Formats: sequence, structure tokens, C-alpha cells
Amino acid sequence: MIDFDYARAASLKDASARSAEPGAMLLAGGTTLVDLAKLDVLRPSLLVDITRLPGLDAVEHGADGVTLGAIATMGRVAADPRMQADYPALAESLQLAASAQLRNMATLAGNLMQRTRCSYYRDPAAYPACNKREPGSGCSALEGPAGAHAVLGASPSCIALYPGDFAVALTALDALIRTDRRALPVADLFLEPGDTPQRETVLEPGEVITAIEVARTKLAARSTYLKVRERQSYEFASASAAVALELEEDGRTVRQARVALGGVATRPWRAVAVEKALAGRTLSEATVREASALAMEGAVPVEGSAWKIELVPRVVARAIMKIGGLQ
Ligand code: SF4
Repeated sequence: MIDFDYARAASLKDASARSAEPGAMLLAGGTTLVDLAKLDVLRPSLLVDITRLPGLDAVEHGADGVTLGAIATMGRVAADPRMQADYPALAESLQLAASAQLRNMATLAGNLMQRTRCSYYRDPAAYPACNKREPGSGCSALEGPAGAHAVLGASPSCIALYPGDFAVALTALDALIRTDRRALPVADLFLEPGDTPQRETVLEPGEVITAIEVARTKLAARSTYLKVRERQSYEFASASAAVALELEEDGRTVRQARVALGGVATRPWRAVAVEKALAGRTLSEATVREASALAMEGAVPVEGSAWKIELVPRVVARAIMKIGGLQ
């Protein structure tokens, strides 16, 4: 039983001030928070409820883009017909995440901020060594089976995967994250573990995500999110790819491409080498597979994870071929 206080934020300023207190956490959908509190991974002393703050759940479509309120639910945004038409990778990434029940509770910002599924992190009683949970305690994953851990962006301190889908699609579409104090590209939100794996984002204590903005572009309209997993529902990605293409007038030559990877790295991972290899090329299965082979540039397998390095280029190629009209 965790003894904690509860406070309903009266305003955004109030939410920021209260959540900056040591041991305080923001509460919206609560799906990750309750899960990890039950496992004794998180022990908040104060929950600051932001679910009643006006405007934070708004979804506003404009001619130039969409603004998604931080506490809009995943289910609502996934089912939005304009999201499906203008930003299919985003709608698909939400639809393929979690379960219907969770999607109806979980919020967009909460989904971005979800914690790793590293089984050692989630079991403090059996595995006290975890630098992410307890800085300086070590990393149990480095000593045990780690077949589902990160092969990109890892460090000697932590090899935990970033588990989300939505952030991967946002990364491919160059989304902007708005907080109560600044705006930053989603690519700048997440941190690699380095020697401080307990710090997962650049957000400061008390900083509150308020919205996510995505430009309405040709790239966004021709985008997709492909997720490969061990079962077809309620499962995290073994590997995933968010891909967006803008084609020349001939409908076959790539003007520009965006590729981001999930399920393989410590943060949503932009595959810039694949993007560069596709630009200016005429789409064919051969050119797509050649470019996709670059997706794992710099990958370092740990024990049991080499299969990811083989799987990812296939996932990327399938996603490109799907939206490039080759399937
Ligand atoms: Fe903890 Fe990271 Fe090691 Fe998992 S991989 S046990 S989260 S330090």
C-alpha cells in the first residue's frame, strides 16, 4: 500500500508548481502510473490531477496542421477521420498500441512519457540493480537475457528500449511538443541513457506538456506505421517503422522521405541514412531493400538481440513498399 496525497490542479500554473515538488507526479489517464505503482517501481508522494484543466484535451484541425491536446485520449485521436486521412501514421500508431480499454483511458502525453518495459526494471524485488530505477545500482539486463533490449542508442549504464509507438510516428512527421514554458521538436524531447538513464526526457521538474502540433503536409498524408509483434493485439513492438514519402509528379520518384524506428532503440530513432538513400531514387523493390538495409547502421547487439538487426530492414522495406505503391 502506497501512502500518497492527491491534489486536483486548479490551473496549469498550479499543476506546474505542485508537480515540481519532490515525489510529485502528474496524473491524467494513469494507465502507466498505476501499473508501475502496483509493481512498486514508482512510489509517488503526491499525484497532481490535470484531467479537469480546460482545453488540454482539445483536438483542433486547421488548414496547415493539427493541434492535439496533451490529455486527448489515444482512442479518440485514433478514431478521428481527419487524423486517418491526413496523418495516417499517427492514427495507425495509436490504433496499434495497447488495448481498446487502455486507449480509451490513456492520454497522448502520457503515452509519450511511458516507461520502459524492461522486465528487470519492472521487478525491483528480484532485480535490485537497475540504474534507471536506482542510479548507480547497476544494470541487471547486462547480466541476464536481454533479447528484447535496445540495439541502438544504448550505453554501459542502460540498454532499455523505449516502448512506445506514437512517439515514433511523431518523430517521422517532425512534430512539435508544446509545454507550459517552450516548444521543442519531438526529436529533442527524448534522451539517450548515457550515464544518467533515470533521466528520459529534457523536461524540467514541473514542466507540463500541453499539446502536440503536426504540420499538414504531403509527407504526412502519405505515411504509415507498421508494427511487427509477437501477437496481433495488446503487444509491444518487436520492431516498428513509421515511414512518410513525398513523391515527384511521376508518382514513382522519391522527393523526400522520413523514416523512424520503434522497438529497437533507447528512444524513438530516426533512420536518416535510409531517408538519404531514398531521396531522388525511383521506387522499386531493389532500391527500397537497398535503402532499408541502412536502417540498422551503428546497431550493437547484446546477447540474444541479433534478430532485431535482421528484422528491422524488412519492416522498413515493407512499410516503404506499402505507401510507395509496390504492394
Ligand atoms: Fe534498469 Fe536499464 Fe538495466 Fe533495464 S536495461 S535493468 S531499465 S538499467
